[in-house]
Amino acid sequence: MRREFASRADLIAYVTQVFPGATGAVSETVGGRTVALEKLAALQPDRYGHSRNELEGAVTRLSPYIRHGVLTLAEVRDHLQAQGYAWAVVEPLLRQLAWRDYWQQLYEQWGDGIWDDREPYKTGFTAADYADELPQDIINGTTSLDCMDHFSRELQTTGYLHNHARLWLAAYIIHWRRVKWQAGARWFLSHLLDGDPASNQLSWQWVASTFSVKPYYFNQENLARFSRRKWCATCPHAAQTCPFRGSYEQLHKQLFPHAEASHSSRRLGTRR
Ligand SMILES: Cc1cc2nc3c(=O)[nH]c(=O)nc-3n(C[C@H](O)[C@H](O)[C@H](O)COP(=O)(O)OP(=O)(O)OC[C@H]3O[C@@H](n4cnc5c(N)ncnc54)[C@H](O)[C@@H]3O)c2cc1C
Repeated sequence: MRREFASRADLIAYVTQVFPGATGAVSETVGGRTVALEKLAALQPDRYGHSRNELEGAVTRLSPYIRHGVLTLAEVRDHLQAQGYAWAVVEPLLRQLAWRDYWQQLYEQWGDGIWDDREPYKTGFTAADYADELPQDIINGTTSLDCMDHFSRELQTTGYLHNHARLWLAAYIIHWRRVKWQAGARWFLSHLLDGDPASNQLSWQWVASTFSVKPYYFNQENLARFSRRKWCATCPHAAQTCPFRGSYEQLHKQLFPHAEASHSSRRLGTRR
């Protein structure tokens, strides 16, 4: 394969020729060390700490560069330290980098074992209760839920999703549609530009509860808040038929009727 290109257009033309069966638009994410260093220089750790859970928050978009070794975790850490920020300012971003490192270390130990349920589901269901395949309406973005259909299209056209969108979409697939997390993880891996076995599979297991003490789920209020009602404002389901409507207690009973009563839920801000 060629490795040197006169321009991005030249690269795109070459890849199109080598993979004639590949369909869809070219992602706007530009690769390479130069862009990675520009993004590093533009980091705003204080804004990150305050807004990282918001879809429009000041997230770094560094993941494809870190994933493919264009930038190392140590470089990001050293850059933050060199700026002389107070610990409280950089801690939220360093914590996320540490999550990546932690998943990598588990991957080193477990290898392909990260595809296996590390523990039983804590949802009151067994693995056999979950479907093996991803429903076609999720892949096609035709569930009629504006938020989920948007996330599906965004994943497949840009190769990127904000962490909160990954959590919501994964929880919808596993807990509302009762599909095995592995089906969703395979789908994510085939589209994410930062697709990484360790961060991906172990995050899916965390949502599923096969590698955590309880399932991650959310409600409409949470999604509306962190997306600034981007979809709820116009979604035909928002007022009455949204499957995410209700308190965490109500949703827990509805989603996990056979699970031990546990109303405490996972929300961003409490752990990740
Ligand atoms: C279901 C699911 C699947 C995921 N799949 C992947 C994947 O395939 N590849 C991947 O790199 N990340 C994955 N993540 C973690 C996280 O969503 C992405 O790393 C992050 O959204 C990338 O965007 P960013 O660079 O703007 O992140 P920022 O919020 O700006 O974070 C900075 C960096 O910290 C690391 N990071 C942030 N959050 C996490 C996290 N929760 N776990 C591990 N590392 C983190 C990433 O390297 C990221 O680039 C997944 C999360 C979920 C819930």
